[in-house]
Amino acid sequence: MTRSTRGRTELGDVDLPDVREIKIERTKLAYRSPISTARGPIDRREVVVLTLTDGKGRVGLGEAAPLVNFTPESVDEAELAIHRWADDGSTPAGSPTARAAIDGALVDLAARAASRPVHDLLAPGSSGIVPVSALVGGNTPDDLATAAAEAVAGGHRTIKVKVAAGPFSADLARLTAVREAIGDARLRIDANGGWVPDEVSEHLIRLADLDLELVEEPVAGLEALAAVRATSPIPVAVDESARTIDDVRRVIALGSADLVVLKPSALGGPLMTAEVARVATEAGLGLVVTSLLDGSVGIRAAAHLTAALGALDPAPGLATAVLLTADSGPSLLPTEGALVLD
Ligand SMILES: [Mg+2]
Repeated sequence: MTRSTRGRTELGDVDLPDVREIKIERTKLAYRSPISTARGPIDRREVVVLTLTDGKGRVGLGEAAPLVNFTPESVDEAELAIHRWADDGSTPAGSPTARAAIDGALVDLAARAASRPVHDLLAPGSSGIVPVSALVGGNTPDDLATAAAEAVAGGHRTIKVKVAAGPFSADLARLTAVREAIGDARLRIDANGGWVPDEVSEHLIRLADLDLELVEEPVAGLEALAAVRATSPIPVAVDESARTIDDVRRVIALGSADLVVLKPSALGGPLMTAEVARVATEAGLGLVVTSLLDGSVGIRAAAHLTAALGALDPAPGLATAVLLTADSGPSLLPTEGALVLD
């Protein structure tokens, strides 16, 4: 397929690259151990990689990584939306992951054409060193503490632990072991909306001694989060309950959270995410940019965006390429606890 798309997609202040070739390919991601989704664990997932080439042979990459029951579209629909854009330039309104692939690839190609890193193109002078949190797991408190200590020894300064899969007493034991193992490194937890609203406030009060950086989605739903946040001694971050810019506006109106977790892959890519970030920041909310457990093409786009935004504290959740055994592109892995972008 050969087609120029110059001028067809709004790119903010970035000059549109002169696209001469468009390649749309499916590829499979595979995970070292199954990831949990709203429809149960999965160990494989299909994504769409978009490759744009300009007249000088320079290449920009984008990834559409729909996630079942998280994004509104399937991988078939995302692929179709990218094909439509390639054919007639139509904006993929109903497919945020297709838009993420298209805008991601256009920005990537524009940066290559300008011989600059993407983050520097979006925000001149921004740092390309992105410290990232490490998600750790383990079957017992000891296993978990060991994994957390290893992550800290490897250079991570922020550890994330999933909670609410079992009884609270077990989580308390696990988190206490981790806190002892990691000294003064930061510790954040993610309940994925899994705690019972009536019990959450007591959980958070009991966890306050562990000096937690934040809790993601202690309960599901923006009203329920607002009620929890009103008494929480720990900063509350909204994740799954805020998936669009309109959701983030409701978070602000209701007071549902202190921070928002932004997944550029699900929000519609770097430019849409920058807009959401602006709305959130103006309202005083903190930002945590994370992956959608997508491949390294998508992770790279998210990392450049968070570098451009300067959203580096709290540490972004972008160390997830370590979970993959089959990736969408060159693996973007942390070095001494940080992604180094070029
Ligand atoms: Mg989360």
